[in-house]
Amino acid sequence: MSLRRSFVESANAPDTDFPLNNLPFGVFDDGRGPRCCTAIGESVLDLGAMDERSMLPGGHFRSDAINDFMAGGPGLWERVRNTLTGLLAEASPSESLLAPFLHPRDAVRMRMPFQVAEYTDFYSSRHHATNVGTMFRGPETALPPNWLSIPIGYNGRASSVVVSGTDVRRPWGQLKAPDADLPVFAPCKRFDIELEMGAIVGTPSDRPVTVAEADAMIFGYVLLNDWSARDIQAWEYQPLGPFQAKATATTISPWIVTKAALEPFRCDTPAREKELLPHLRDCGPMLYDIDLSVTLAPEGKKATTITRTNYNMMYYSAAQQLAHHTTSGCGMRVGDLLGSGTISGTQKDSRGSLLELSWSGKEPLELPGGITRSFLEDGDTLTLRGAAKGEGYRVGFGECAGQILPALDDPYKR
Ligand code: MN
Repeated sequence: MSLRRSFVESANAPDTDFPLNNLPFGVFDDGRGPRCCTAIGESVLDLGAMDERSMLPGGHFRSDAINDFMAGGPGLWERVRNTLTGLLAEASPSESLLAPFLHPRDAVRMRMPFQVAEYTDFYSSRHHATNVGTMFRGPETALPPNWLSIPIGYNGRASSVVVSGTDVRRPWGQLKAPDADLPVFAPCKRFDIELEMGAIVGTPSDRPVTVAEADAMIFGYVLLNDWSARDIQAWEYQPLGPFQAKATATTISPWIVTKAALEPFRCDTPAREKELLPHLRDCGPMLYDIDLSVTLAPEGKKATTITRTNYNMMYYSAAQQLAHHTTSGCGMRVGDLLGSGTISGTQKDSRGSLLELSWSGKEPLELPGGITRSFLEDGDTLTLRGAAKGEGYRVGFGECAGQILPALDDPYKR
């Protein structure tokens, strides 16, 4: 696959996240209300306005969310992608027809691209699970006994999911020092990021599905930052898993990059240490080669890259996670969001959380200007980026960013 050239000149630059090959879906607002759109180079294309003139198949973009379009199913996804690819191609006869619907991307505000039906977060990077298990429980029991057989997950909160650019307020919660008799209620002191990918379910199910069926149900992917209060988590998580530690906010990138755009970048999951039960076995390459990174910018300071990793580091794919999710008969809905779990690589500088990067605060990160970080400080801005790299082009996700606001006064003080 090589670059598909567009009449939108900025879409042909080798470093743009949004060449014609990409065509991600999002929702923008230019002051006249939220409308569905796609990104092309430095522009957004107003799909809502085009739909009002019946220029697209299906008529599902007269909405402030992508859900209606996703519910149209894989046949519609393909028809719309093919239509947009033709309309936006270099030397397209439609160039002047499309001009009124193209707006500079830096002049519009991106909104939540879809209504999150439900949110589940997994724990499917072996390096992350091993690192966290070593810190929380010790090296002997680092990887839980079920880990190599099941993509472990917990049911999160759809209400916690916010779009890139939304500020994140430091939470209060119950914290207990290891040597203290009783917990205290206080602002989180160990607030953290989790570098993840999110898979979005585009067609529903009401029965157990195979890995192949699960892959067909996935509409696309976003970057996802699962903000985590490590001190709250350490006290609350046994035996039912994370709860309030993960409920403050989960930030996603504003663009849903479709499975179709990522098709050339598919890759295999790693060799299995223990053979999986038949219903979870791979039936083709289900992961993607997507370079990922995170920058940290202290308030008023330059951003520094604190980690680089790749989605191909996962042990379980989103299709395996989704198949496992349905084994009980659990129904899946259009707009369900599945977090991959923190994506950590094998190297120290490829770890996907500050908990791992600073080894629970024992080895603080050093930033320029003598600044150090074990966990997040107020005013810090964290930005996730990701892109699959082709020959002379990239399929990118844009930015997934959030700034930490200081904790409010004690919410229970009267
Ligand atoms: Mn997570």
